Amino acid sequence: MTRKITVLGSLNADTILHISRLPKQGETMAMNNASTAPGGKGANQAVAAARMGAQTKFVGAVGQDQNGEMMLAALQANVVDSTHVQKLANIGTGSAYILLEEDGNNTILIHGGANQALTVSDAQNASEAIAAADVLVAQFETPLEVTLKAFEIAKQNGVFTILNPAPAKQGIPTELLELTDLIIPNETEAEIITGIAVSDDASMEENARKFRELGVQNLIITVGARGAYYSTINGAGFVPAFKVDAVDTTAAGDTFIGTLASQLELDLSNVIEAIRFSNRASSITVQGPGALPSIPNLEQVKQALASKES
Ligand code: ADP
Repeated sequence: MTRKITVLGSLNADTILHISRLPKQGETMAMNNASTAPGGKGANQAVAAARMGAQTKFVGAVGQDQNGEMMLAALQANVVDSTHVQKLANIGTGSAYILLEEDGNNTILIHGGANQALTVSDAQNASEAIAAADVLVAQFETPLEVTLKAFEIAKQNGVFTILNPAPAKQGIPTELLELTDLIIPNETEAEIITGIAVSDDASMEENARKFRELGVQNLIITVGARGAYYSTINGAGFVPAFKVDAVDTTAAGDTFIGTLASQLELDLSNVIEAIRFSNRASSITVQGPGALPSIPNLEQVKQALASKES
């Protein structure tokens, strides 16, 4: 049966400013190039899920502007249902300015815009799309109270909830964590939430213990080029990443999350296989530039898994 996924999250127009180095305070500096493309954690995760074959719906908001049109077109082109994307007047579509230096370092400035104008009643109005899903996925680029309402609706209807706590914040309400079936931070986000730096196996186990104390039973920490650690009701372990030449790691984590949501059995019985599959998908994303264009589809991941290097 086709997996049904609803993503509550951000839609951002990403403007990549190609620069030789960061400007100094007060300096006026020429850019090498600037280009705008669809992005935002929510959009990236939804597109990843849809490209993996999941029937995907989006709950979010854009402004009534050109960037909003671009985001809606990107969702539609990837067969993500945008019925529950609000088109708000008097506020701009969310945007991100990515200062990409020649050495590959990037510094990002985000303006939440319409993403931050989502309300609890928008979540209520999307009740049907949430309740009909197998999995609900959310991040922290939309207001927390909206996520809380959506997770309440999800759990009342037996929907599996995945929280990607990014960008990380401290003091996540216990109520939200208790409604979360699976939390997927990267190592930096895990440390901000638990206060425990992610390094060796013991520190990851400590993180899992802390997350359980905070109210979430199942944890996956993505650890970049190393792979991903998991600790679930069925056990704990580490699934190594695939060795590739990374050119741009934008959307690595988003690809991992969207893919995992599409592959994970909801009793978590195949967590190792699902992580391996998601690691493979992300390893393709990091080999291409940009966010959406580099996210693979199901066939590409299957082919890569069948190849010799796997
Ligand atoms: P985020 O993008 O949220 O910071 P990570 O950097 O932890 O997330 O990456 C998520 C996943 O992407 C990793 O678990 C891994 O599977 C894959 N990945 C990231 N960087 C690389 C890399 N350099 N080589 C291979 N796989 C990578």
